[in-house]
Amino acid sequence: MNISTSQGLFEKAQKFIPGGVNSPVRAFRAVGGSPVFIKSAKGPYVYDEDGNEYIELINSWGPMILGHANELIQEAVSDAIQHSFSFGAPTRREVEMAELIVSMMPSVEKVRMVNSGTEATMSAIRVARGFTGRDKIIKFEGCYHGHGDSFLIAAGSGAVTFGTPDSPGVTKGVANDTLTAPYNDLAAVQQLVDANKNHIAALILEPVVGNMGCVLPAAGFLEGLRKICDEEGIVLIFDEVMTGFRLSKGGAQQRFGITPDLTTLGKIIGGGMPVGAYGGKAEIMNWVSPLGPVYQAGTLSGNPIAMAAGLTMLNYLNDHPEVYSQLETSGHRLTSGFSNSIAKLGLDYTINHIGSMYTLFFTDQQVTDFPSAKSSDLVLFGKYFHEMLNRGIYMGPSQFESMFLSTALTDAHIDRVIEANEESLKAAL
Ligand code: PLP
Repeated sequence: MNISTSQGLFEKAQKFIPGGVNSPVRAFRAVGGSPVFIKSAKGPYVYDEDGNEYIELINSWGPMILGHANELIQEAVSDAIQHSFSFGAPTRREVEMAELIVSMMPSVEKVRMVNSGTEATMSAIRVARGFTGRDKIIKFEGCYHGHGDSFLIAAGSGAVTFGTPDSPGVTKGVANDTLTAPYNDLAAVQQLVDANKNHIAALILEPVVGNMGCVLPAAGFLEGLRKICDEEGIVLIFDEVMTGFRLSKGGAQQRFGITPDLTTLGKIIGGGMPVGAYGGKAEIMNWVSPLGPVYQAGTLSGNPIAMAAGLTMLNYLNDHPEVYSQLETSGHRLTSGFSNSIAKLGLDYTINHIGSMYTLFFTDQQVTDFPSAKSSDLVLFGKYFHEMLNRGIYMGPSQFESMFLSTALTDAHIDRVIEANEESLKAAL
């Protein structure tokens, strides 16, 4: 495969951008080689600067649930830009957006728009701290909640990919206020809570993890967390930046039937534009400025172009529940195909899967938490990744990521992925 234009661009990029990229995982460090530079995308395909075509399994890390360059979203954005790009003032679409989120996700009674998932999680813990008058938070090892200081403690995704789950630059004071527990370990959470009585403001988690690869909550785990938080007056925050409007119309919380106090959102709600949101119980959200004393603001928050894209996306999902049955069917078809190939080749790798999210882990252990995710053979993953890329399949370049399917994938595309997977496994071993 010729990627010489991408290679040239990467060389130049490294002169002017740290590591040549604007988000670390894009640099392909975990898998080796040079990243491909993307020029365009349509439906289930992305195209690089050298004209190579790939089937999309990452979809901008989740937002493009309907595939690329969706015409309805294109039209909405084209229309919105005729009226300028930003006003820094209230607009009709923000109200429609808030009303729609509240109607689709009933635990959210009030919601504030921000510009990224990182802003959403940072703001959510601030309001939880203001509301409870407490300082500490609990997060889970291997969960990633964006790059806010409080979350770069035992963080997943790019942080673990680059061996920096605890980042220099985070002060000891901030780090001391973040307590961590192993995912799926209720007893460990109870111990932390008992040892820090009346000091824990919030417990934040990915209700289904995407950032150590795809990891599912064990039966009773989310229920148990809800109970502990209720008993101790802790604000339960579901970080649904990945899972919101993906795992069902009402997110992971609807799928698992657990109601958090606050929810953080991003990705899909922007339709591909930079958007985040946090919301939840009115009695907590009423603490946010200007109604309450917890300050949070943004020049571009509720940006009209981003709202036009996000609103079109959410309205579509709201009106087309068949999107979710299609994604379930696609997820099953793909992962059963993978399982068949793995069995046929006499391998015992683990596939975690829910709806349109999955990860193939190069380990024979059940992957239920961070240590088991890290038992994967990362060198083998790197080889497999490049074998897939060479066969025209575009995946997240790290073992510690979930893939995200879109409705633009037909059965024929999925069958091509299954075939490429089998060939790549054979070639990588
Ligand atoms: N929370 C979760 C669960 C995420 O997966 C991410 C990003 O991948 C974030 C928060 C941060 O979002 P952003 O990258 O938009 O800042």
